[in-house]
Amino acid sequence: MSFRPLSWLVMAAAAVAVSMPLVGCSPADEDEVNLYSARQENLIQPLLEQFTEETGIQVNLVTGSADSLLQRLRHEGRNSPADVLITADAARLHQAKQTGVLQAIESDVLNENIPERYRDPEGEWYGLSLRARPILYHKDRVDPEDLSTYGALTDEKWEDRICVRSSDNVYNQSLVAAMIATEGAEAAEAWAEGIVNNMARRPQGGDRDQIRAVADGVCDIAIANTYYLGLMLDGDGRDREVAEQIGVFWPNQDDRGTHVNISGAGVTAHAPNRENAIRLLEFLTSQEAQQWYAEANQEYPIRDDVPASEILQGFGEFESDDIELHLLGDNNSEAVRIMDRVRWR
Ligand code: FE
Repeated sequence: MSFRPLSWLVMAAAAVAVSMPLVGCSPADEDEVNLYSARQENLIQPLLEQFTEETGIQVNLVTGSADSLLQRLRHEGRNSPADVLITADAARLHQAKQTGVLQAIESDVLNENIPERYRDPEGEWYGLSLRARPILYHKDRVDPEDLSTYGALTDEKWEDRICVRSSDNVYNQSLVAAMIATEGAEAAEAWAEGIVNNMARRPQGGDRDQIRAVADGVCDIAIANTYYLGLMLDGDGRDREVAEQIGVFWPNQDDRGTHVNISGAGVTAHAPNRENAIRLLEFLTSQEAQQWYAEANQEYPIRDDVPASEILQGFGEFESDDIELHLLGDNNSEAVRIMDRVRWR
């Protein structure tokens, strides 16, 4: 049975090979920056290559799930080779700040490029892109005249007609956290309960699956992030066919606005290449990088002066809520408790 130790060795060697560039980098290496990214490699790699071309700074990229990267940063502590963390959702960025894995930086460039409400007041995290979580509906089965607010989705006319993913996902946690911030915990709980009552099925799958379920007639309404619909429209085949049946409705336009969230980044607490890390963040907020990043992800640019993709522009303009994004983190555990209580599984 010699294949066993051998395959173990091969795997160990592969693991070493993967981690080598980071382990091997010296703390003061002037032409490197080490990036932990929770975003898909193909959605960021071309930008990193551009950065290297412009600055001569090599980017060592480690991708992983948001939770595993956060855990890894905590675990590595001051020995972490990481300089920059990129992840989605303000609640996670806030959590990263609270657990001490980020550090405050100051950059006039970042302060200029990123609107104030999309960055941490203390400079520990910065928004890189913007996503909205509106109401999506089937164009043939729902009259948008019947839609108005998130709150109105609890009306009995939507009974058995709503699809939304489970409460273990941060997107819905942040949606409820935003509702706690604007309408109070009691109202948020009543809302969550009303949504559960109107669900067409037990939550399952991701945002794309809710959109597909609307097209398949499982439900008529979904709550999902815009970029999923944008990416489906940008694709081909079945996904595109599905997405073309779906309309975007911007809720709460007469009061608090539609729920928005960010993807973002911060410089890590023990960054060995701190200056390079700041340069990378600055680069990622440049006009050119923003245009590419937003287009590739079908997200809204974080900068006001960069236009959204044509697909997103097709969804129409909207008013977004303007709550302080750290509240999504502060209210996260209460949101989770509420969703547990009302059995939003
Ligand atoms: Fe997502």
